[in-house]
Parts: sequence; C-alpha cells; structure tokens
Amino acid sequence: MRLKPRQETSTPEQTRRLGAQIGRRVGTGTTIALRGSLGAGKTTLVKGIARSLQIQEAITSPTFTLISEYRGRRAGRPVTLCHIDLYRIVHPQEIEDLGLEEILSAGSLSVIEWAEKAAGFLPDGTVYVDISITGNGRRDISISGLAL
Ligand code: ADP
Ligand code: MG
Repeated sequence: MRLKPRQETSTPEQTRRLGAQIGRRVGTGTTIALRGSLGAGKTTLVKGIARSLQIQEAITSPTFTLISEYRGRRAGRPVTLCHIDLYRIVHPQEIEDLGLEEILSAGSLSVIEWAEKAAGFLPDGTVYVDISITGNGRRDISISGLAL
C-alpha cells in the first residue's frame, strides 16, 4: 500500500491507521519527530504506531512522565517503543539533562511529541510528521524523511 507524503484524516481512527502504516514502514531504530499543536493528534498517531508493534498496553501521556517504554514485536522480533513527550520542556538544557541523544541512539523506535523543542538533538534519518488541525475533526498530516 502506498503511503502519501501528505494526507488528510477525518477521524482519530484514520490517524491511528496512518500511525500504524508509518510504524510498519520505518526501521526499528528510527526516531519519529511529531510536530503540531496541543490536541493536533500526536498521541493518537503514537497509538497507531504502538498497534503496528502489537503493543496491547494503553498509550497515555502522563503529565509528569517524559518517557515511557513499551515492549512490542515486529516480524516476530522484539522492538522497544520509546514514547517521549517534551510538552513540559522549557529550556534546551533540560533536553540535554534528559540524555535525549543517548536515548535516541539506543536502537529503539522512538517517537517524540513536541519534537520542535528538540530540534538540534535529532539524529540523521529522523522521520518528521507534521499534524495540523484543519477543522471538523480533520487533520492535515505531512510525512517527510521517510522513503515512501
Ligand atoms: P496531541 O497529542 O497532539 O495533543 P491527542 O492525540 O492527545 O493530541 O488528541 C487529539 C484529540 O483530537 C483527541 O481527542 C481526538 O479524539 C481528537 N481528534 C478529532 N479528530 C481527529 C483526527 N482526525 N485525528 C486525530 N485526532 C482527532
Ligand atoms: Mg500528546
């Protein structure tokens, strides 16, 4: 199935489905940078990525947890999904203190919400997903950096 670099979704389920398609396509050590305003659908997309890795646990965005790890599988092999939410980060120094670069180079599939805040810390090969609200439950979603 073809994955268009830009598309519109009309429901949360469509956004989850797109997340699952992205999750199946990226290498398992990839960093996926999600950018978009509060309520755009970043966490919703992460739920789809988790689904593609057969993760049964609920994906949440706990207020004070910056990083959550989930054990998943793809093609019969274990894959760790690292879900990072930088919403609460104010200063770039906090990103350094978090050890983000080490985390991203550890071989997990990492997905970062509010990746704008980590702009200088993202590895080569990062896949960017930009989500914007276009109204009536619709979201405009652009994917770049992924060989589609
Ligand atoms: P974020 O993590 O970007 O703050 P969430 O994924 O937590 O956003 O929330 C998105 C909200 O928007 C959810 O309440 C979801 O039900 C709603 N929503 C409505 N339409 C869509 C859509 N097309 N895609 C994703 N979420 C949608
Ligand atoms: Mg979120």
